[in-house]
Amino acid sequence: MESEQSMTLPSAQHQEKFQEKSDPAICCRACGQLVTRRNCNGPDTVDSERTFRNPAGYSFHVKVFGEAEGCRVVGEAVSEASWFPDYAWRLALCRECDTHLGWRFEKSGHSDFWGLIVTRLTGV
Ligand SMILES: [Zn+2]
Repeated sequence: MESEQSMTLPSAQHQEKFQEKSDPAICCRACGQLVTRRNCNGPDTVDSERTFRNPAGYSFHVKVFGEAEGCRVVGEAVSEASWFPDYAWRLALCRECDTHLGWRFEKSGHSDFWGLIVTRLTGV
């Protein structure tokens, strides 16, 4: 007795392609792990892209993202020398290879956001 049903192919293929194109992946340059998506914007109240200089004199070209699923934060939040007024920051490392990718900025009552170093990412 054969009552095999014909397999229905998912019609989501087209949609997936569209999503990929409209919101490209941004990955860790060192290991290729997915870090965030290009359209994952941070809050409107902060600049989306800037070059910053840290107290040690290094400058970083940083882009702001609302989420970064491929990052993990380490250490305590620090409010000194923050590039975004009133925001405290933590170091953000790649979840996969621990490369320093940027910082997460936090402020109570506001959404967190991520400032990621453009030269350490691909697809930006
Ligand atoms: Zn990595």
